[in-house]
Amino acid sequence: MLRLPRFDLVEPRTVAEAVAARVAAGPDASYVAGGTDLWPNMKRRQQTPRTVIALSRIEALSRTSGTPERGVTIGAGVTLEAIARDPMIRAHYPAVAHAAEVVSTPTLRHMGTIGGNLLLDTRCNYYDQTEEWRRSIDYCMKKDGTICWVAPSSPRCWAVQSSDGVPVAVALGAEVTLAGPRGERRIAAAALYANDGMAYLTKQPDELLVSYHLPPVDGWRAVYVKLRRRGSFHFPVLGVAAWVRRAPDGTVKDARVVLGAVASHPQEIPEAAAALVGTALDAKAIAAAEDAAYRPAKPMDNTDYTLAWRKDMVKVHVQRALTAIAGDRP
Ligand SMILES: Cc1cc2nc3c(=O)[nH]c(=O)nc-3n(C[C@H](O)[C@H](O)[C@H](O)COP(=O)(O)OP(=O)(O)OC[C@H]3O[C@@H](n4cnc5c(N)ncnc54)[C@H](O)[C@@H]3O)c2cc1C
Ligand code: SF4
Repeated sequence: MLRLPRFDLVEPRTVAEAVAARVAAGPDASYVAGGTDLWPNMKRRQQTPRTVIALSRIEALSRTSGTPERGVTIGAGVTLEAIARDPMIRAHYPAVAHAAEVVSTPTLRHMGTIGGNLLLDTRCNYYDQTEEWRRSIDYCMKKDGTICWVAPSSPRCWAVQSSDGVPVAVALGAEVTLAGPRGERRIAAAALYANDGMAYLTKQPDELLVSYHLPPVDGWRAVYVKLRRRGSFHFPVLGVAAWVRRAPDGTVKDARVVLGAVASHPQEIPEAAAALVGTALDAKAIAAAEDAAYRPAKPMDNTDYTLAWRKDMVKVHVQRALTAIAGDRP
């Protein structure tokens, strides 16, 4: 049995108390929300904070407010299950609800929060292993070692962004509010991520994710399509989030295509979007977008399935996502 290491638990009641506790605890500390990622990582000694600041008693993090016309704000502590079942989110932000409902299993969705999902650690076959397993290969650069086993001559880590919610947040042009010792700031969700398997977030370690802001629903449509080995359980090996805004005559005015699980960050493919703008989102335009997405998608050999097949699947899943939007006229 894998056991948790010893740590001090702090249970603040407000965002300000949580940030103050995090600052007081210093660098050897971590926030925890549902704990579905952090607790297993601590059991495997991938993360070993001496102080853990639990967010589950902060009521302000578990509220949803707003309207589809004005935009909706979801507290970082709202569970994936609550998002997946929320009738308003299902009706007006189906891609957000769908990304939540395809995460893992019902048990984990009841505990796991949207905040934890948006800040999920990157994953790799050489890293998501027990401490004994990792010790047997002398660890790797992401934790306790010096080398990257995926690309031994590489100066960086290529662990994979593997959250279902992240590509959707970026495709929607959503925003997040972060609270830190110097106050709050609101940034584009896209600005939260960096293409580095170790430094995969741009937020400061002591900043707390307070809320997730969905944009007003004003004529755009978005879809999320996920590829994984077992439909009842697994992390994505590919996620495609597509967002399209069309003119009343059906012509595409603007688009975003974002790939998850192919890089250390959610990979936006502007070439695919450009292939759609000005078209009627017909089969020819969708085929051009598929081709455009195929070229820059460069999955690494550190998750499930073969590289070549995962790359081929980019075309298939971009096509599925855009075809779903094409059949769903505003
Ligand atoms: C078997 C298994 C299968 C899974 N499958 C999937 C899957 O298919 N898709 C998927 O996307 N995820 C999957 N997950 C990962 C995880 O369950 C979800 O991503 C979940 O939403 C994480 O939320 P949490 O609240 O449990 O995060 P936690 O574990 O509490 O936290 C995750 C990270 O975010 C930080 N954090 C959390 N909340 C905040 C906050 N408000 N402010 C600042 N930092 C914060 C924590 O410090 C930690 O670093 C799986 C996990 C397991 C164990
Ligand atoms: S990509 Fe390399 S450094 Fe990063 S977790 Fe995997 S083996 Fe370790």
